[in-house]
Amino acid sequence: MIKKVLIANRGEIALRVHRACREMGISTVAVHSQADANAMHVRLADESVCIGPAPSPQSYLNIASIISAAEISNADAIHPGYGFLSENANFAEIVEAHGIIFIGPTADHIRIMGDKVAAKETMIKLGVPVVPGSDGAVTTAEDAEAIGDEMGYPVLIKAAAGGGGRGMRVVHSAPEMESAFGTTRSEARAAFGDDSVYIEKYLSEPRHIEYQILADTHGNVVHLGERDCSLQRRHQKVLEEAPSPVIDAKLRAEMGETVTNAIKQLGYRGAGTIEFLYENGTFYFIEMNTRLQVEHPVTEMITGLDLVREQIRVASGEALSFSQKDISLSGHSIECRINAEDPTNFAPSPGKVTDYHPPGGLDVRVASGLYAGYSIPPHYDSLVAKLIVHGKNRSDCLMRLSRALEEFVIGGVKTTIPLHQALVDDESFQAGDYDIHWLTKFLEKQRA
Ligand code: ADP
Repeated sequence: MIKKVLIANRGEIALRVHRACREMGISTVAVHSQADANAMHVRLADESVCIGPAPSPQSYLNIASIISAAEISNADAIHPGYGFLSENANFAEIVEAHGIIFIGPTADHIRIMGDKVAAKETMIKLGVPVVPGSDGAVTTAEDAEAIGDEMGYPVLIKAAAGGGGRGMRVVHSAPEMESAFGTTRSEARAAFGDDSVYIEKYLSEPRHIEYQILADTHGNVVHLGERDCSLQRRHQKVLEEAPSPVIDAKLRAEMGETVTNAIKQLGYRGAGTIEFLYENGTFYFIEMNTRLQVEHPVTEMITGLDLVREQIRVASGEALSFSQKDISLSGHSIECRINAEDPTNFAPSPGKVTDYHPPGGLDVRVASGLYAGYSIPPHYDSLVAKLIVHGKNRSDCLMRLSRALEEFVIGGVKTTIPLHQALVDDESFQAGDYDIHWLTKFLEKQRA
């Protein structure tokens, strides 16, 4: 079993990994930038190493510094969290070349799924339904126009290397195609160093439904049901829930089987998420994330499993200690992503947290590195806390969420707590009646 884990991340996810390690009797090494010397993950870890200046390319993305930190601290494994280097196949390869365990899938699987064109081709071969679109990458505007005419507008141009909701452009009609194609390619080159793009039918009212899977190195694969992540702003998730209000037990089991069969054939190891759009009773694969997700706690709340513990066990070579029939889903869970942002225009709001009172009580979980007196640095993602609640059913969960949001005090900076309060008070949201475009319209209405 792994004895010491270096956590190559910061913020709430670094704490999350630390906590799982602590409960397993594994010691932890925190790495941090100069801007994060006072961060909670550094305070709690058994050891810490400063890996560079504030900008992430010089610290949290600096592979050489992270490997050196692992070597001087004698860590036998590295957990990458999410974001930063978590889906960087070269990093996974370099970690293993140094005789250190990478807590995640193989570099090959990260590479395949990191290229969305290759990922779609792979899923088609494995019998998973995908969004209709171009047959692989599209290289000329003429080809793009021909595909648009054949498929019918609107279509979506997507960067093969895209992520985090970036590198996507909707095209509503043929005359827009040429310039949209050129712009998306040059943006993709600038943002991801790769200008490959592909085209998909733009679905008009889908929900974003994703399946959590866990696989060990002994050929066992299970799915832990779905999460509904349809509440998005600019293609980025804002609030997630499990189970989805629109998926029943039969559909869950059917799709779960399709997904586990595909992952088994792939020979994948570790935790992963297969993302779909779901419209008119049909699932369409969009991408696979080969890491732990921000929203993993809602799955933990309804399954009672600790996903980080399972990741570490699998990385240590152990078999999953349960099979599909042992997994049962209980109640309902919702997660709110709380960002240090102005809730009206989403401008970042870093700075000193003057007061911090997280909510508590039955079935309330807060994931955050905040404390009173802490200064949120301006250099990183604005996610500063996640509030996760559980209830025996969706309405119980909503009631608890409303109460917990009311209690949550983060003083000194602006946060998106008021947005979540408005969502919980909304009748359509309460009815579970929303798709991926719903939040954008909701925000427009609020501004009017
Ligand atoms: P990323 O890797 O940037 O997260 P995804 O491919 O996972 O990109 O898509 C993110 C979100 O963008 C989806 O959840 C959905 O809201 C929207 N989206 C992606 N593909 C389509 C599509 N074909 N039609 C409509 N919306 C889409």
